[in-house]
Amino acid sequence: MIDFRSDTVTRPSKTMRTAMANAEVGDDVYGDDPTVNELESWAAKRHGFASAMFCSSGTQANLLALMAHCQRGDEYLCGQQAHNYMFEGGGAAILGSIQPQPIANEKDGALCFKKLAAAIKPDDAHFARTTLLSIENTINGKVLPLEYMSKARAFTQQHNLALHLDGARVYNAATALNVDITEICQHVDSMSICLSKGLGAPIGSILLGSEALIKSAKRWRKVVGGGMRQAGIIAAAAKIALEQNPKKLVLDHENAKYLANALNQLPNVSVNLEHVETNMVFATFAAAVDVVSLVEKLKHQDILLTPGNPMRLVTHLDIDKTDIDNFIRQLSHALKAS
Ligand SMILES: *Cc1c(COP(=O)(O)O)cnc(C)c1O
Repeated sequence: MIDFRSDTVTRPSKTMRTAMANAEVGDDVYGDDPTVNELESWAAKRHGFASAMFCSSGTQANLLALMAHCQRGDEYLCGQQAHNYMFEGGGAAILGSIQPQPIANEKDGALCFKKLAAAIKPDDAHFARTTLLSIENTINGKVLPLEYMSKARAFTQQHNLALHLDGARVYNAATALNVDITEICQHVDSMSICLSKGLGAPIGSILLGSEALIKSAKRWRKVVGGGMRQAGIIAAAAKIALEQNPKKLVLDHENAKYLANALNQLPNVSVNLEHVETNMVFATFAAAVDVVSLVEKLKHQDILLTPGNPMRLVTHLDIDKTDIDNFIRQLSHALKAS
């Protein structure tokens, strides 16, 4: 199977499975799981935060960050395309009584500070209290530059807001910028990282922040049913993902460029190479192409794609250049036949 749908589809490596089988465990709700504790303290130190919390998913990490930063009746500024606005089921509103205030993302994925400033509400009972700015890096495969991160910090300080980074793929951003991860996260009050995407862990995300923020987030994690018991089993794989796999992302990025170039050689498909900054490729098919039946056809050749035009294709640990060559051959056949 060659699966381009997402980088979430990676399977745990042998090393991970061995570490999982041998992990020392305890009851993490009591704070007794040594493998979880080790992951959390290592992750906090590595990223320059006082504290860290391991949790089940990126959605949960973002939700708990929003609930820890905001009170009932507060609002957070975010992008119209933000994962924690668009793709998390409205969790912050449903479970946190926190109102989102989305702002249209600019072409590069950034949020314009002028537009953000205009959306901040005055201190008046008519309005929700604006308390947080949440940004995302990478966003749809695009990287926010370091300069933008430091401007976001200055903006939030000026307006007395907290700053959260949805860093589901922040290691892809660091890889593309060729900087240490701390160059990005030094600017924010909290950050979530998905360990189960390009980094290859089977399950889990990490939330980073101050002692007080993580204490509050841990309380909410229990409330939403996210307290895990012998979670060291999955934390063991998560630690390997975080320690060993960031350096492999450069290959995913190379493969994405390789894929994009190959797609551009085919008739009726085009990719804007300027937008291939990390591990995502957006391919546009000519109107004559029936994308849904194309996806069905390729499924019979053991190639999995998300139907859509543009179509998002994601490279990851389980896709190499040979897989891409095979895919291009099959796609070329399928396009000719259609
Ligand atoms: C995938 C993703 C999440 C959520 O992660 P899950 O582990 O799938 O819940 C959050 N933010 C961004 C930007 C993501 O890409």
